[in-house]
Amino acid sequence: MKKPLSLGLACSLLLSLHPVGTAAGLMADSKAVAAVEYLYADVSDANTILAAIDSGLLSSYQGRDRAAWEQLYGTRRAKLARELERLPSSGLSGGDTRAIAAMRKQMQAFTGGGALFSPAAKCQDAPRKDIAYAQLKAALVACFVEIGNNLSFEGGKINRVSALDLLHETSDAGRRKAVFLAFVPLWQAVNGNNEPDSPYRRMIAGAAAEASKNGSEIDNAARDVGINPVEVERWLVQMLDAWRASSGNVMVEPWDFRFQAGEADRVLGTYIPRESLQPINHRYYRDLGADLEQMGTLYDLGPRPDKAALAYTEFVTHGRMVNGAWRSTVARVSAPYERGGLFVLNELVHENGHVVNITAIRNRPAFVDWPSDLFAEAFADVPAWGTYEPVWQRRYLGHEAPEQLSLRALYSVVMLDVAWSLFELRMFRTPTADPNALWTEITGRYLRIVPHAELSWWAVRVQLADLPGYMVNYGLGAILTAEMRQHISKVLGAFDNGDPRWYGWLSQHLLRYGSERDTRTLMQDFLGRPVSPQAFLEQIRRLKPASPQATGDQPTESTRH
Ligand SMILES: [Zn+2]
Repeated sequence: MKKPLSLGLACSLLLSLHPVGTAAGLMADSKAVAAVEYLYADVSDANTILAAIDSGLLSSYQGRDRAAWEQLYGTRRAKLARELERLPSSGLSGGDTRAIAAMRKQMQAFTGGGALFSPAAKCQDAPRKDIAYAQLKAALVACFVEIGNNLSFEGGKINRVSALDLLHETSDAGRRKAVFLAFVPLWQAVNGNNEPDSPYRRMIAGAAAEASKNGSEIDNAARDVGINPVEVERWLVQMLDAWRASSGNVMVEPWDFRFQAGEADRVLGTYIPRESLQPINHRYYRDLGADLEQMGTLYDLGPRPDKAALAYTEFVTHGRMVNGAWRSTVARVSAPYERGGLFVLNELVHENGHVVNITAIRNRPAFVDWPSDLFAEAFADVPAWGTYEPVWQRRYLGHEAPEQLSLRALYSVVMLDVAWSLFELRMFRTPTADPNALWTEITGRYLRIVPHAELSWWAVRVQLADLPGYMVNYGLGAILTAEMRQHISKVLGAFDNGDPRWYGWLSQHLLRYGSERDTRTLMQDFLGRPVSPQAFLEQIRRLKPASPQATGDQPTESTRH
């Protein structure tokens, strides 16, 4: 998960220096624009520093406490708004004009603090019919924090991430079903008893109304790939069809789906204790030419009751030229990890894929920001998918699971994302549809999951409430991930074993532009052709249909050393 909202403020005492034209492409053409752009960089930094403080990671930064940052943010932001207004509207270079547009757009997402994914709202407000769309959404996110961080299981409390992980690892069928049913209070908070005016159903109606005015994440993703939204649906269905063809016809219970596909997680789980997550992650990226520690990346990976209920990555400060030298972006990763395991490690490597994406940006301040959501999520999986390749496992874990088990574990999780993407796409199209019936239809048909329309078991992802439509960035994003992995392997060579040229080469060819280049052009130039689902479908074809009796508590294949 990347955090798509930037916060912002000004921090450096060097703001008044506006080096113009010292590094091609990294500076504004006009002196007036350069001055505004460096003010923008300060506001943008203050915004993300305040978010870092409000996340609980820091109490002060660069010698300033929260109050000082807030004050700086307020005054500089007001000044920035005034100065942006004052810039001439003609006579500027094309680059400066685009930079001004980018700054205006990105500024709209600045929040000036507030804990991301952990709003001040209360879950108890979700059933209220008198609150507006934004408040309803915030209340639903609060449900994920309040309830999702406190699921009752076997007399204790576990969080949502741990519960999902336990669904992969718990071999006792009764216990597994109990973990699954630990989600019931969350499902009820989000979707009541699935009545037509349940909290989620009112929220998705609001989201669809908003999307009809401003477009949805699905429209954005379609634009980023260069296809229309109807084709997005076709591609998602193609992906699901390929999975179905590779998976046999045996129906599984929803609490068994992750377990059945997750044998690799179980084979390797003992080699990935909680405390090994970061050393493995750092070593892999060092082998890819990216030293995360040297980059100053900040980590906040432990669980806390009031913490954001999902893993995400965000800027702390934005890279920029200072006195003729590039001062790097500093990123932070937040996650609520109670346990280790391959599923969690894969997610940590994904988050650090976001880190290397944003630290690789070398551009003028207006463009030192996230690329599109679709590109960001897809790129983060380029290194992360490696964790499910036996060659990677051998090198970084000292043990490997058989290829078929590894691939099935990886792509079963990807397929759930594709299923959620299709679910949201259809909910946006028909917001009055019954979400439980729709989810049952999609998962029954393509994932061969036994119908349980009485349970809102789709409601386990925070994004469904916080950023309706966002799941497409994972589901459709997998197509871009497969394209990038295939192209890098072709041009640079296989990299699941590490390749010290990887980070530098990708920085140069793909990542340095930040928010400047649209994803469609970026991918077209990178691949030398438009994006297509072929590379992804080839990955799914690597899977051989599972044997029909492969459910439940069968003995696992032993680890090869
Ligand atoms: Zn992500």
